[in-house]
Formats: sequence, C-alpha cells, structure tokens
Amino acid sequence: MISGDSIVALSSGRLPAGIAVIRISGAQTRFVVETIAGTMVKDRIATLRKLRAADGTLLDAGLVVFFPAPNSFTGEDVAEFHVHGGRAVAAKMLETIAGFDGVRHAEPGEFTRRAFLNGKVDLVETEALADLVNAETEAQRRFAVRNAAGAQSELYLGWRRRLIHARAMIEAEIDFSDEDDVPGSVADAVWSDVRAMVDEIARHVEGFRAAEIIRDGFEVVILGAPNAGKSSLFNALAQREAAIVTDEPGTTRDLLEVVLDLSGMRVWVTDTAGLRDAPGKVEAIGIEKARAKAHGADLLLVLEDMANPVSAGMIPTDAPALRIGTKADLVGPELQTTGYDAAISVRDGTGVPELLAEIGRRAAAEIGQAGDILPSRLRHVELLSETKRYLLAALTEEGRGQELRAEELRLAADRLGRIVGSVDVEDLLDVIFSQFCIGK
Ligand code: GDP
Ligand code: ZN
Repeated sequence: MISGDSIVALSSGRLPAGIAVIRISGAQTRFVVETIAGTMVKDRIATLRKLRAADGTLLDAGLVVFFPAPNSFTGEDVAEFHVHGGRAVAAKMLETIAGFDGVRHAEPGEFTRRAFLNGKVDLVETEALADLVNAETEAQRRFAVRNAAGAQSELYLGWRRRLIHARAMIEAEIDFSDEDDVPGSVADAVWSDVRAMVDEIARHVEGFRAAEIIRDGFEVVILGAPNAGKSSLFNALAQREAAIVTDEPGTTRDLLEVVLDLSGMRVWVTDTAGLRDAPGKVEAIGIEKARAKAHGADLLLVLEDMANPVSAGMIPTDAPALRIGTKADLVGPELQTTGYDAAISVRDGTGVPELLAEIGRRAAAEIGQAGDILPSRLRHVELLSETKRYLLAALTEEGRGQELRAEELRLAADRLGRIVGSVDVEDLLDVIFSQFCIGK
C-alpha cells in the first residue's frame, strides 16, 4: 500500500450510457462498500444491491463487485459500482463516495500508477494498457493487447536475465582466476552470447518503424501532373471507405488527407497539388508542400494521364512508388500495359479495388508479422541503444580488464531494467549464489 488516500473515479466512458462503472481503490474501500451497499458483499461476485448514502438516501440500485487486496488491478482493495449510466446518477455516486473520510477523486492514470507501484504491472505493460485503450484499428489492438499481457516486457526481462547471468559468470571468473574452477570456455560462451544479444537488440530496434506505422498509420501520397486524376482517385478512395475527410490542421486546402481502415490497418492518403516544372508563384507553394509530404511517405502513387501523358517531373524522394496510369476508360488496353504498375479508371472503377489491395499489402509488409514484438516507444529505442552501446564496449577486449567489462554488462542490464521499471541489484546476488558453490 503506497498512499493513505483511497481514490474514486468514473471508469467507464461518456455519459449518458447504459451503465456507468464507478471504481474505488484503497484502504477505505471496504468501509465505503459496507456503507453504500448496506453490508459487505462476497469477494469477486457481482451482487445486486440498493445503494444508499451514509444518511440512508437512496442513490440507485446496481451491481457491486469487491476485489480484495492484493488480487486486484491496483493491488489494493478495489470495488466497482455498476450503476445506471445517467449523468446525475454517476455524479451523485462520485460525490457521495468522494465525501467519505480518506477518499478523494483520482488523478488521471492514478489507478494504473498504483498498479505499477504495487508491482501489478511494469512500465511497458502500463504503456501498452494506454495503447490498448486508445486502439482504433485491429492492428493497434492486436499489438497493444499482446504487450499489455507482457510479451514485450518478457523480451527485455529475458535479455536482462541473460546479462545478469553473463556478469555473474565473468565476476566468478575474476574471483576464482587464481584457481582453475571456471574454465576459459565459460567466458567464451558468455561473450558469444553477449555478441548474439547485440544482434538481437539491433534487429528489435529496427522494428520501431513498424510500430510507428501501426500507431500513426501508413502514409500514402498521391503525386502527378495537373489533371492527372489525383483528386478523382482521392475522392474515390475516400468514398469507398466511407472515411473521414480532414484538412490536416495547419495546412491549407491543397493538402487533403483521408484516413482509411484497410484490413485493420490505419492508412493515410494525401492528395497534393499538381507537380510541374514551371509553376506560377502560388502554385509553387502547393508543389513545395507536396514535395515535403512526399519525403515522409511510406508509398507514393505517381499518377499519369494515359490519354495525355505529361510527366510529373522529378519525383522528389526515393520512397517506394507505384506508377499508375489513369483514365483507362479513354485508352485501349495496349497503352495500359506499358510502363505502369497499375492502370485505373475512376470513371468506370477499373483497377481501383486492386490498387487498394496493393496498398494494403504494402502496409502489411511494413508492419511485419502479427506476432512480431516491437519497441513501442521512443523511450524503449533510446534505452535499447544505450544497452547496445554498453554491450559493444563490454565486448571490446583490447587493453581492458574483466572488471571494467563486467561493469559494462551491469550498466547494460540496468538500462533494460529501466525500460520495464524494475531496477534493483538483489537479483545479481541470487544468480551468483545459485550458480556457484561459493562456500567451498
Ligand atoms: P488532378 O488535377 O490530378 O487532381 O485531376 P482531377 O482528379 O481533378 O481530374 C482532372 C480531370 O480528369 C477531371 O476533369 C476529371 O473528371 C478527369 N478524370 C479523372 N479521372 C478520370 C477517369 O478515370 N476517366 C476519365 N475519363 N476522366 C477522368
Ligand atoms: Zn487535384
């Protein structure tokens, strides 16, 4: 238990709704339940009760669930009141419960914070819980739910255990180097495992781009000369997916964006001003914006009117691009097969579903396998990079003693511990004592 205060909050969503869930956590929980529900309810069993204020005023009738410490979300005594989801009902319940001595309204995230401080979730799981609550697409949900259940933490803790073991071995070798208890082959095995870990961490860090695409979306930018059919394709994609068409805040109307949900992935499509080589002054601003947008893109759709081919000029980036011939309805099939990755007609719909499918395939390829464990925060990437730096230092033998190298292993393990928020040194001693008979 980390605080004298109990905390209460509305834990369900926007009111009015069918049900409102009011949650309380802390030492006062039992007393609050006894008072409001009349008597204590059985642990972990939803019980229908009349709910009354301390002075007997009827508040509502609803379900009461009590989760005794430590087997609750926060690790403290927790109770939930499931009441009718009207604004006045929820407000009265909150006001009544917060009016008890030692109970106050919770700060944002405070339940989860208590869960972390009581060791119920680690930092990475906490972050994943936030992602899960915010998940809008199936890919985001799948990613977050796995990490909330500990997949990502387990990867870091696994590396950390290996480093703690490695350091224990190296330190043992230092301690016993006068005798012959620890053969040199043990140290060789340790260092080769550390080397393998450097590669594993480097590969894992590369996955950050995929995590960003899952979270922020796959960015598709439509480019091409004026009249190539960019806006027509943009509108067709927007309509087909019944998506929200937004002006990106801070930009003018010459960059229109739409977000699509393609097979559970978030995909942004941006329409741009036509690219051409000798633009007027105002037009040049739009072209500059298009070029800037193209730079950050994951995929470019470079459109060309097959009935009246005008080159879009230089494509301003080396982002992957699909060359798309437009207005297929105006030209014969011979033209459509020459030099284009796809031929479409917005007029009769030719090629548009196939184009969407191809965009979806490309986004999926960037996101990687559904089971991949990826770093989900820049914080993770930074600490992993530090971990890797310490490991590379530890692997450098030239003129460096074993003590220094063992210390670098400790610093590396410490960085991993920082990611999950569980840094302490006790476990190092445990490993040393469990691996060797020191008492000889
Ligand atoms: P943008 O300048 O690249 O955005 O081009 P628009 O989308 O505004 O289209 C330019 C012109 O081409 C408009 O008159 C459209 O109606 C026409 N257009 C666009 N797509 C097609 C198509 O698939 N078939 C035909 N026949 N005309 C098209
Ligand atoms: Zn346009």
